[in-house]
Amino acid sequence: MSKSIPVVRSVQALRNVVKGWREEGHSVGLVPTMGALHHGHLSLVRAIAEKADRIIVSIFVNPTQFGEGEDFDKYPRTETEDRKKLASTPASLVFAPNAREMYPSGFASKVNVGGISERLEGALRPGHFDGVATVVSKLLLQAMPDVAIFGEKDYQQLAVIRRFVSDLNIPVEIMGGTLIREADGLAASSRNAYLTDQERQVAATFNIALNELTAKVQNGTDIRQAEKEACEALLSAGFLSVDYVAVVDPESLEPLDRLDRNARVLAVARIGGVRLLDNMAINKA
Ligand code: AMP
Repeated sequence: MSKSIPVVRSVQALRNVVKGWREEGHSVGLVPTMGALHHGHLSLVRAIAEKADRIIVSIFVNPTQFGEGEDFDKYPRTETEDRKKLASTPASLVFAPNAREMYPSGFASKVNVGGISERLEGALRPGHFDGVATVVSKLLLQAMPDVAIFGEKDYQQLAVIRRFVSDLNIPVEIMGGTLIREADGLAASSRNAYLTDQERQVAATFNIALNELTAKVQNGTDIRQAEKEACEALLSAGFLSVDYVAVVDPESLEPLDRLDRNARVLAVARIGGVRLLDNMAINKA
C-alpha cells in the first residue's frame, strides 16, 4: 500500500499539532484547497516549502462559496487519492474538517471585501468572494501559519485575499503560485474532469485565444477590439458562451484602455455545463 499523509479533522487537533511544531521552532505554511488535487495544487506545496518547513494542506469543499445551481454537490471528493498524492510532496499534514466543524450551528459571520471583489467573478457570482474570504480567514486563524499560498489560476481570488489580509492586519505572508497548465495549454483544474473528450479538445483553444489576444495587445491593437476578437475566437472554436474576456490592471483589476503598464487578461468561458477560468500576464514591451 502506498504511504498516505496524516490527517486531522478538528480545529483543536490542528492547533495541537501546530503548537508542537512551534515548540520545536518550525515555520508553518498553509495551502488551502478544495481537494481533487492535481499537479497545479502540488506545485503550490512545493513552492511554499521554500518558506516553511512544516506544511498543512487543507481540503474542504466550502459550501458558502458555491451559489445556487452551482456544482457543490457534484464537486469531486477524492480524499484518499489526494492524501496519496501528497505523500510524494513536502506536505506534513492534511486538515480536512467537515462542514459542521467549519460552520457550527449558529454560525452568523461573514468577511465581505469591497471594491476588488465586486467586479468580474464577483459580479457574476454574487456572494462567492464572501464565502472565499470567510473560509480563508477562518483557515488562517485556525492554523496561524507564517505563510499561505494561493494559485494565480484564480487570479481575482488571490487579489481579494491579499486585500483582506492587509485590511484586517492578519499576520501572514501571502504567496502567489504560478498558473500550471496541462501539456496542451489548458489550465489545470479539478473541474476539467467534467469535460468530455470532445469538450476537452475545444477547451485547449482557450489558452491559444489568450496568447493571441496578448500578442495583439502588445502589437498595439485596440484593447476592446482584441477582447472582442478573443470572444469570437472562443465561440467559433466551440465554446457555448463567454462570460468575460477583460484586460485589466494586474493589482486593482480595473479595466485598461491602453497598455501603459503591465496588464493581465482574465477570462471565463463555458463549455457544456462547465465554466473554465484562465488568465495571462500581458507585459508592456
Ligand atoms: P481549488 O481546490 O481549486 O480551490 O484550488 C486550491 C488552490 O490551488 C487555489 O489557490 C487555486 O488557485 C490553486 N490552483 C488550482 N489550480 C491551479 C493551477 N492550475 N495552477 C496553480 N494553482 C492552482
